[in-house]
Amino acid sequence: MSKVETVGRPANFIRNIINDDLANHKHEMVHTRFPPEPNGYLHIGHAKSICLNFGLAEDYQGQCNLRFDDTNPSKEDMEYVDSIKKDVAWLGFEWAGDIRYSSNYFDQFYGYACELIEKGLAYVCFLNAEESREFRGTLREAGKNSPHRDSSPAENLDLFAKMKNGDLKEGECVLRAKIDMTSSFMCLRDPTLYRVRFETHHQTGDKWCIYPMYDFAHCISDAIENITHSLCTLEFQDNRRLYDWVLDNLNDFNKPDRPHQYEFSRLNLEYTVMSKRKLHQLVDDNLVSGWDDPRMPTISGLRRRGYTAAALRDFAERIGISKVDSMTGMDILEAVIRDDLNKIAPRTMAVMDPIKVVIENYEGECESIQAPIHPQNEAMGKREIFFGKELYIDRADFAEVAPNGKYQRLALDKEVRLRNAYIVKAVRADTDAEGNFTTIYCTYDPETLGKNPADGRKVKGVIHFVEASKALPAVFRIYDRLFSVENPVKADDFESVLNTDSLAVKQGFVEPGLANSEAEKAYQFEREGYFCRDNQSGDVQVYNRTVALRDTWGTK
Ligand code: ATP
Ligand code: MG
Repeated sequence: MSKVETVGRPANFIRNIINDDLANHKHEMVHTRFPPEPNGYLHIGHAKSICLNFGLAEDYQGQCNLRFDDTNPSKEDMEYVDSIKKDVAWLGFEWAGDIRYSSNYFDQFYGYACELIEKGLAYVCFLNAEESREFRGTLREAGKNSPHRDSSPAENLDLFAKMKNGDLKEGECVLRAKIDMTSSFMCLRDPTLYRVRFETHHQTGDKWCIYPMYDFAHCISDAIENITHSLCTLEFQDNRRLYDWVLDNLNDFNKPDRPHQYEFSRLNLEYTVMSKRKLHQLVDDNLVSGWDDPRMPTISGLRRRGYTAAALRDFAERIGISKVDSMTGMDILEAVIRDDLNKIAPRTMAVMDPIKVVIENYEGECESIQAPIHPQNEAMGKREIFFGKELYIDRADFAEVAPNGKYQRLALDKEVRLRNAYIVKAVRADTDAEGNFTTIYCTYDPETLGKNPADGRKVKGVIHFVEASKALPAVFRIYDRLFSVENPVKADDFESVLNTDSLAVKQGFVEPGLANSEAEKAYQFEREGYFCRDNQSGDVQVYNRTVALRDTWGTK
């Protein structure tokens, strides 16, 4: 057992490995890292990896680095670097020391490549793309050695220097590891370590025209940073052989406490996609409003929708870490969000499909009422709401005739309580030419503010409302699942299974107390759901639905 107790968190196979490594003194501390490529915004799958890596460092009093794996300048951008930093910090984690960049190590990578060349373990290969493919073989068929495989280290050092100096063209040659063209692991069939790219890099500018491949740069970056447990998703399982080969063949790193890679299963969520390439496509094809569209599974989209960092961390913990590939239901994510918001979200009232109500026996204009901010948590205090001669209620809360005995909303000659206020009874309603109700006329019982009628009559129904003269006009965006099928990746063209009704916009009113509501902070609009002010709405009252009050996944 380890010296450090990992309080509160469930065991998993990675914790077991760490406990053993500490007990056996293979490592004296835990040092993890989160290594995103800055080629897109982070999504909820990354949140799983962030919570795992930073969470382990927290629990074992170790460290976790944030390292940008920036070896492919053509797809990377500072916009992504900035958004990734913001998202990790928002999730509530602090990286150890400065931000790292793989590109900080370009000089070292070059040196280590030379070491492999000197040892006869790497060579410059001039096969073109088509020949390389042919020589690589297939899963059933062994590959063939490149004709350049046996050139001398001296020759190769010279050629590699030429690559670096810009004397060789893009695509003309690559540096390859000399491993085994007959290996059953394709990634060991003399994989490429370096290629020529005349690209400007966001960190190193035009200093380099050769760039290392991910597999080469990644393991060395981990080793340079003294990472102990290099955690990644299962698709890198085979690459572990190459990871180990590189480190075992470099003098600086061939030692027992060098990093080791362990793989866990990635998060897949129903009704959405998680690959950056597909998320890019949704943005580029204008199928969503941007990376932070509240329908996107990105951290910035979920934040804009009102999810909290605490809820995402809780979700990561509840789904756990394993090696089993699975699909997580949207109901599980939403249940976590509801649990969180039910406890913390202030209550308020909003009418999304308003119909005017006139209280005929109300004297004066309007009055102020103190209502609880959270009915189960008095400590959250009170808010001021209003009641008066003119109100709005939701169109769905009125019927001329109650459809059945169980009906608990407003109907002609039937009483209902207005939430936080009085009991009212509908007496008549105006309609327009098409027969739609335009105004409902009611009377109220002035003796029923916060108490039951004195004569003992029972009024079960409660509906929400806002007072008309003080209410603020507001726009509501009701989001639904982004795709119409559980696993969009299975469709031939994932765009063809987009849910065309994933956004409905409604116009209505909110309580005046929301005038200065904070963006991204969810409120419970009573009886309607959790909503937060959009972070791009400025002074206008635009609300995004975070989540409905009840699970609707099973009922659609
Ligand atoms: P994608 O495959 O979506 O394009 P990526 O794996 O290329 O993403 P990186 O920036 O390289 O994106 O990922 C950084 C880290 O996040 C990696 O260690 C990766 O394993 C992990 N990660 C990416 N997607 C998921 C996921 N769905 N669940 C858990 N971890 C993930
Ligand atoms: Mg990937």
